[in-house]
Amino acid sequence: MDNGARQPHIVFFPSAGMGHILPMAELAKLLVDRHHFTVTFITFSEHSNKTQDAFLASLPSSITSISLPPIPLSDLPENSAVETRMSIAAARSVPHLRSLLLPLLSSTRLVAFIADLFTTTGCDAAKALKIQHFIFIPTNLLFVTLMLHLPALNAELSCDFWELEQPVLLPGYPPIPGTEILHPLQDRKNECYRWMLEHAKRYREAEGILVNTFDAIEPEAANLLKKEEPGRATLYAVGPLIRAHAVSGEEGAHCLRWLDSQPTGSVLFVSFGSVGSHSTEQLGELALGLEASGQRFLWVVRTPVDLNSVGSNYIEAQSADNPLAYLPEGFLERTKGVGLVVPSWAPQVDILAHSSTGGFLSHCGWNSTLESMARGVPMIVWPLFAEQRMNAVMMVEGAKVAMRLKARKDGIFDRKKISRVVKNLMEGEEGERLRKSAKELQAEAAAAMTEGGSSSVALAAFAEKLKSFPTV
Ligand code: UDP
Repeated sequence: MDNGARQPHIVFFPSAGMGHILPMAELAKLLVDRHHFTVTFITFSEHSNKTQDAFLASLPSSITSISLPPIPLSDLPENSAVETRMSIAAARSVPHLRSLLLPLLSSTRLVAFIADLFTTTGCDAAKALKIQHFIFIPTNLLFVTLMLHLPALNAELSCDFWELEQPVLLPGYPPIPGTEILHPLQDRKNECYRWMLEHAKRYREAEGILVNTFDAIEPEAANLLKKEEPGRATLYAVGPLIRAHAVSGEEGAHCLRWLDSQPTGSVLFVSFGSVGSHSTEQLGELALGLEASGQRFLWVVRTPVDLNSVGSNYIEAQSADNPLAYLPEGFLERTKGVGLVVPSWAPQVDILAHSSTGGFLSHCGWNSTLESMARGVPMIVWPLFAEQRMNAVMMVEGAKVAMRLKARKDGIFDRKKISRVVKNLMEGEEGERLRKSAKELQAEAAAAMTEGGSSSVALAAFAEKLKSFPTV
């Protein structure tokens, strides 16, 4: 069959883990629904599990998936960063990718290969086969701006970011203290830093970069980056790409029923993403702070784990026992009716969409941030790792839809401060102001995705560009 007569096809190559697959799948669905592409996901077989397999199988029939053979990483030091492991896995997969792309080239009208923020080396396989390659960034333009400036910053700096006395100035953003810069960039001697430099170089070289953000949430940078620059990839802000509903079992349904019985806008949702957790001491302070605030809350509690152990062993440790056992004595009884505590996981997108939810205490992961803004829910930000500290600066000082908690000198957020900030968000004047701004941003997020909106226009431009490529 003549490839030219077929629907154009795209290969997506996400980093391991559902957190990376989910936003890419939303992008794939839009490209299929609105622009009539077909898509193949290439995934890492080590990370295949029931949830991931069921999710991939549930996608529309125009989106299929194949997995790579196992990519051994057992030679890497135990303490290598998650980002390093993901980057090396992608680099080692290049020969296998080539073998998977070749048959797709003959059986489909393959027009593009889209890697993500840590799988950029996979583009080598696409380049060798003369397939146009793009990068998908599941986070924001702030991350992209930092990465585009990283080679220059790296050349100027003689110390680590956290040691800088002056904040980092990036065009279009409030000044960012060095301590708040992306976690994988905080140690120049770490292999992870070298990988980020490598990715930064590849972002520039890509044919284009798709970003899960929308113009109104970071307007200045969006304007600046719209101007084409020789030698720099074209930017497409195509978000917010978020799920309409969460997949939830009986426990999830229980959360939503509980919310049904609460007054409108009265509940603070407390959750720290898919892996975020705290020390036992911090968990106790958070519990007592929520209790002292007197506000209603729905809290997803995780077993306390040392934050330095973020990685696969971290997730195993979490599921090993009952997180509620670590809460202060009598807390559950005392807060019964006012608070609902859920172990490990809750249907977040549905909770944020519920009319009883009035605030979100969040780690400021980008998916959580977008989900909150898409529902007009103001936030209290408590960043933990990755790019969350930079996101927090942007949401508090840039978009002005969030308030921040301040830690004590020993790094602990104490119950008094937690209680004060929670009260302020849920019933104070500042909370009211932030709620208004969040509602405005919600309208902008919806407008961006409708026909003629900034993200729809950007996606259409991207689709047109792909369709104009000659078939290899
Ligand atoms: N999530 C959820 N229920 C939970 C915790 C998280 O549905 O109890 C989802 C949340 O809706 C979001 C994702 O997991 O889509 C977390 O992504 P984010 O980028 O916010 O943080 P990360 O997990 O990458 O730290």
